[in-house]
Amino acid sequence: MTETGLQPERLDLDPAPIAPERDLMSKFDGLIAERRALIDTGVTDPFAIVMDEVRSPTVAVIGGRETILLGTYNYMGMTFDPDVLAAGHEALARFGSGTNGSRMLNGTFRDHMEAEEALREFYGTTGAIVFSTGYMANLGMISTLAAKGEYVILDADSHASIYDGCAQGNAEIVRFRHNSVEDLDKRLGRLPREPGKLVVLEGVYSMLGDVAPLKEMVAVAKRHGAMVLSDEAHSMGFYGPNGRGVYEAQGCDVDFVIGTFSKSVGTVGGFCVSNHPKFEAIRLACRPYIFTASLPPSVVATAAASIRKLRYAHNKRQHLWENARKLHAGLKQFGFQLGTDAPDSAIIAIILEDQEQAVAMWQTLLHGGVYVNMARPPATPAGTYLLRCSLCAEHTTEQLDRVLALFAKAGRTVGAIG
Ligand code: PMP
Repeated sequence: MTETGLQPERLDLDPAPIAPERDLMSKFDGLIAERRALIDTGVTDPFAIVMDEVRSPTVAVIGGRETILLGTYNYMGMTFDPDVLAAGHEALARFGSGTNGSRMLNGTFRDHMEAEEALREFYGTTGAIVFSTGYMANLGMISTLAAKGEYVILDADSHASIYDGCAQGNAEIVRFRHNSVEDLDKRLGRLPREPGKLVVLEGVYSMLGDVAPLKEMVAVAKRHGAMVLSDEAHSMGFYGPNGRGVYEAQGCDVDFVIGTFSKSVGTVGGFCVSNHPKFEAIRLACRPYIFTASLPPSVVATAAASIRKLRYAHNKRQHLWENARKLHAGLKQFGFQLGTDAPDSAIIAIILEDQEQAVAMWQTLLHGGVYVNMARPPATPAGTYLLRCSLCAEHTTEQLDRVLALFAKAGRTVGAIG
């Protein structure tokens, strides 16, 4: 381990002495060369950071330095909540470290039922199914709901797990222009009337932090006889009167809500909730639910405790929004090019010129004691290089003042602002 938290041994990627025509790994040569070129410039690898110690939802030790965490999706700061930790400890002691099995067989414990009950209460739905990750919730729900001869209609900027859900299934896939109600309408209008259709949307798109016009989109989908699934991964906890997400904030009704425990809930896991009377049938047919081990008891116990607290976390919600407004206004004032005109979500993306500028800025921030996410193509829209900040309800005014001062300095150093 180096001072910067980098693991050099993980970068030992010299081409193997295997005949090139047989070496299946040779397809990665381009990626290896690109990564090598980045590291050879002497910068810290933004994709190999190690948290040596985590002191709170907003502070960790990285490379021996105390660092403000501004890129973790820990929106509601639940990871060190005493009730959440107590629930995890109790479950660990009573049920052991793992389930050793699928939910379908021996892998459903008391706290899987508790987490599903907490979700039904939180969302006010009749059904809730917990998956092992949010990725698997999308993979499973999309591939299971839409069968051969049916259609999945998705936003072009959808999360990888939504695309992978399409790839795993057998339905026809139709993409529409990002957040375009008009294009969604047009594409739905071209499809045959009879087959089943699933429109997949996200409340908040995580790369730029922009919000979907869900109300209009859901109305269009319904007019064309489609069912709607909304991924509310980046909105749970702080949109809408009950923190259910953008669909609640915009007052619309969707058939399926996908979520994750890895962001506002503060642990790991995924879920889908629904009022559909036949929703339970998903458990009988969904391969990413059936053919994998269930979450450890301590994880689902922390999830249940966290979700129950999130329901009433009105002060945290309010503080998170104050933080988002403060950071957005400060960065805008310095002249950074931001992903959204207004603080529409708890993600604030700074758009930079190229990889070199993005990495230089990211490293200057890290050396100054602030960790943000770096994102680059193909994960980003329109080939952009981004530094993405995600706010936490637990960030203090002092921390954000420090962050802003550092951004101003780093932005000038790399020429991102005047
Ligand atoms: N959906 C969206 C929109 C996401 O951003 C993510 C993760 N970043 C997921 C699903 C997957 O969630 P998980 O981390 O629980 O697999």
